[in-house]
Amino acid sequence: MSDDELSSSGARPIPSPATLALSTPRVPDMQEETTTPRPSPPQTSYPITFVIVGGGIAGLACALALRRVGHRVTVLERLERDAARGEHGVRAPPNLSKILFHWGLRDALMSKASIMDKLVFTKCECKVPNRRAFPCVTTPLLCHLPDDSSETLAEQLWDAEMLKETQGLFLMLSHPDLHDIFCDAAIQLGADVRFSSEVVEVDPPSRAVTLSSGERLSGDVLIGADGALGQCRTAVLGRRDPGSPTGLAVYDTLISLAYVSTFDPRVALKSWQCLALGGGRAAVAYPIRGFEDISFQLYAPDDAGASGCYEDAAPVDLALVTKDSGISDHLRQTVLGARKTKVIPIRQHVDLEDWVSDDGRLLLIGEAAHPFPPTTIQGTAMAVEDGAVLAKLFSHLSSAAQIESFLYAFQEIRQSRVRNVRAAELGAIAMLTADGPAAAARDASLRANAARGPGANVLEGGGSAEGVWEEYSVLFGYDCEDEADEWWVQWGRLRQRAQDRSMAADGEEPA
Ligand SMILES: Cc1cc2nc3c(=O)[nH]c(=O)nc-3n(C[C@H](O)[C@H](O)[C@H](O)COP(=O)(O)OP(=O)(O)OC[C@H]3O[C@@H](n4cnc5c(N)ncnc54)[C@H](O)[C@@H]3O)c2cc1C
Repeated sequence: MSDDELSSSGARPIPSPATLALSTPRVPDMQEETTTPRPSPPQTSYPITFVIVGGGIAGLACALALRRVGHRVTVLERLERDAARGEHGVRAPPNLSKILFHWGLRDALMSKASIMDKLVFTKCECKVPNRRAFPCVTTPLLCHLPDDSSETLAEQLWDAEMLKETQGLFLMLSHPDLHDIFCDAAIQLGADVRFSSEVVEVDPPSRAVTLSSGERLSGDVLIGADGALGQCRTAVLGRRDPGSPTGLAVYDTLISLAYVSTFDPRVALKSWQCLALGGGRAAVAYPIRGFEDISFQLYAPDDAGASGCYEDAAPVDLALVTKDSGISDHLRQTVLGARKTKVIPIRQHVDLEDWVSDDGRLLLIGEAAHPFPPTTIQGTAMAVEDGAVLAKLFSHLSSAAQIESFLYAFQEIRQSRVRNVRAAELGAIAMLTADGPAAAARDASLRANAARGPGANVLEGGGSAEGVWEEYSVLFGYDCEDEADEWWVQWGRLRQRAQDRSMAADGEEPA
């Protein structure tokens, strides 16, 4: 499709490289010596058309990344924009925030996010016989411990050296704000983002999709970013993968600070992520929206047999769920103010061998390729890393003959990274929700590490927390764009030369 054809189909022409920087990167003090803003990225000499199914974080970040290197992009999202933005909180670890910094979105991100100062682990024992308490996570976050059932186990300050090396920051913000950042930037760079556009049929051999309106769209490559339960994953796997239950679910909710202050005048929200540990249950809380709201998640047994995912999870009444569960008075009052609570099951999905369809023209990214448990720190980060890597590879596209090898290169680069990260996230959930002797070992390890004094890595060594800290520095320090560059330097360029030579031998013009 030419640029003119694209314009008539609703997409805008590709801006020149000079206009691609979205904003002048601003360098916060703590990152001054480590941040080296990247110039406008190299542009492809062979622009092609990508049709992306799904306008969640993966689809939009991918659209933005591909536009930055000069490809044409249409995003098809079945929900209206407001519904697709979501409602709750997300954490942006350094490996995610640094991508936005590299893309010139530092100001947009920092205007919506707060920097996480530390992790605070507390322990909550239930005083009601034969009951398991939902641990009272809000008390440390609100800066005091009004009930005597909570013990502060340990505090983890983010290691300044580690953060410096990662070139990113650990941030907390709302999902709608992150969605807006990618969506606005992608549209600004000329991506054709269509909401209320449900794809009802995916036809990889024809590189085409059909919308519920009957409209048919085709491109050079289809990208499946329609989530773990979407059509694209089904098309690649050859069957639906609903995932198998793990027995755990996450209750994700929001509580306003203004509400809590109606019964607790001492509140002063901190820039911390608080994790409260109870037998087989855990609660996580952190501030979002300029400290107006507490993003609040409870990990608990999936007693109700929850189904669905974020966009279709049934609303629940958290006060009812936690009633009679032996929670502290403070938490009982707090959850009365819970808004927009959703319960999402934690499921184990098939680990796909291939993210590329057999015909080589449909690629899965984000949750569609590698479902993560809901509300994990790295699920969103992996979705964005996918787009960054894909765009880096396709910035080198100089002929149609390279397309398939770039899609498989993407798969090769991303699969090992995602498997490692997912294993770490599952380990973190197991640690948070440990019960019995495993929980006792975890708590002992946290207490012992905390006793080493301020600044100690409380997640280091011993018990079920073993190795977590070491994994964290690897997780956060990873630079996905460098990985893609390395693949190009080591393999891609050689293949390109070999291909050019064989074309020259056949008397054809090299790309
Ligand atoms: C509405 C929503 C709210 C969320 N809120 C949070 C949150 O608060 N905190 C958090 O940690 N994580 C949240 N998530 C999950 C988080 O965004 C993902 O884990 C991660 O960012 C990767 O997402 P993804 O884009 O790969 O997949 P998803 O987030 O699942 O996005 C897939 C997108 O594809 C769309 N789609 C599906 N089928 C079709 C179709 N046939 N045609 C067109 N479009 C289709 C869906 O509507 C959805 O927008 C939310 C996800 C959604 C969809």
